[in-house]
Amino acid sequence: MNDATLCPACGASNACSLADPRTATQACWCYGVSIDASVLAALPPALRNKACLCPRCAQVLDQLPPDEPACASTDS
Ligand SMILES: [Zn+2]
Repeated sequence: MNDATLCPACGASNACSLADPRTATQACWCYGVSIDASVLAALPPALRNKACLCPRCAQVLDQLPPDEPACASTDS
């Protein structure tokens, strides 16, 4: 059973925008980062090209913009 929204390495959500109908028109985070070839090479062949890795397993967390604060307007 393959779920395109789950990381094949750890089973967490990979936050792939293409796998979610609500965000499928947006470019996935993975387009904006460069994943080390050794990370991909370490995956078993059966897991490659099935589903996206999550940002943590792809080791690109430091390349992603920080999350937007949920409540940023505090200027009162
Ligand atoms: Zn993962």
